[in-house]
Amino acid sequence: MTRHDTLAVRVGGVTLGGGAPVAVQSMTNTDTADAEATARQVAELAAAGSELVRITVNTEAAAAAVPRIRDRLLQQGLEVPLIGDFHFNGHKLLERHPACAVALDKYRINPGNVGRGSRRDARFAQMIELACRHGKPVRIGVNWGSLDPAVLARLMDENAGAARPREPRAVMREAVITSALESAAEAVRLGLPEDRIVISCKMSGVRDLVAVYRELARRCRHPLHLGLTEAGMGDKGVVASAAALAPLLLEGIGDTIRISLTPEPGAPRTREVQIAQEILQALELRSFAPAVVACPGCGRTTSTFFQELARDIQAYLRAQMPVWRTRYPGVENMTVAVMGCVVNGPGESRHADIGISLPGSGEQPVAPVYEDGVKTVTLKGEDIAAQFQARLEAYVERRFGKAASSTGT
Ligand code: SF4
Repeated sequence: MTRHDTLAVRVGGVTLGGGAPVAVQSMTNTDTADAEATARQVAELAAAGSELVRITVNTEAAAAAVPRIRDRLLQQGLEVPLIGDFHFNGHKLLERHPACAVALDKYRINPGNVGRGSRRDARFAQMIELACRHGKPVRIGVNWGSLDPAVLARLMDENAGAARPREPRAVMREAVITSALESAAEAVRLGLPEDRIVISCKMSGVRDLVAVYRELARRCRHPLHLGLTEAGMGDKGVVASAAALAPLLLEGIGDTIRISLTPEPGAPRTREVQIAQEILQALELRSFAPAVVACPGCGRTTSTFFQELARDIQAYLRAQMPVWRTRYPGVENMTVAVMGCVVNGPGESRHADIGISLPGSGEQPVAPVYEDGVKTVTLKGEDIAAQFQARLEAYVERRFGKAASSTGT
């Protein structure tokens, strides 16, 4: 469920808000000036399912590379919307590089990193004027780590003079929200249509993020870009992101998400896309790939065989999705059970579209397979994994293949 009362903002071919499905986005970590490497990473992120990709545009060389990145993607038939991330010098870069301004589908403006004092207003106005001139939407992207100090100081002063001053943390949250909403209102006053503004207020604390976005959702109709900033590495980053985003998404708050994971050295950048998809799928908001239901294992499964099968099936399903997505419409809603023993194996396998119940320790070395709730075969032998994968492929073809849809089965 998404918030149906948000404005719909078009970013390239993708709609954010207005009841559209929550979109997955990501950000490259290549040097944007290296057009080839950046285009390659954008293509990888898009292939993994990123529906929008943000690239940093921080130097003259980076701005000059943006049209080349766009061209390389178009040569591959990729029209994924590109978002330019600007800090400090965006007004200059967009002015000096009109081809960059045209090639990008949205400009991200951080009101805390536009400039200080009177220069801030002039530069912000110039960025908005450029967005109007090129017909582009913007994201007013506040980050509490680079919060506009003028807004924070003003709210702190007001709070100090209040009859009942609030906790500093509450004032900081309010300053983040105020910075975003005042900047959005200023952009509208400067001539940018309301339906060309997306808002984000990224925080690194889970409770802060949830509180801020609930308030934002109450106070504005702009689509909300949702993400826990500086989520961290590994399990911590994944868990914190899921913990922060889940309550909001379940309340219909958030129109596009990005998972800001610090990559493990050598790990693919696409992991943040996969985690974003997993969160949306776990919340039953969207389906991206068949779900593997697997038990945790216990003393009844002393071998690693079932763990390996669950891992291999999951990897196999993900690897097939770029092709299956078009060849087998609806396959992303399929569930596959891989269970460790007879205790819950048959029951869970019957609930899945297709499932296998492996033999636990001391059980007969046979593995019943269930398809659409009915036991169809009992596998045995050394190559149970290969046999199950073959059954899975046949099931997908029969259930989701073109012939199946044309006959209505
Ligand atoms: S299904 Fe069997 S192996 Fe898996 S957790 Fe339950 S009892 Fe243990």
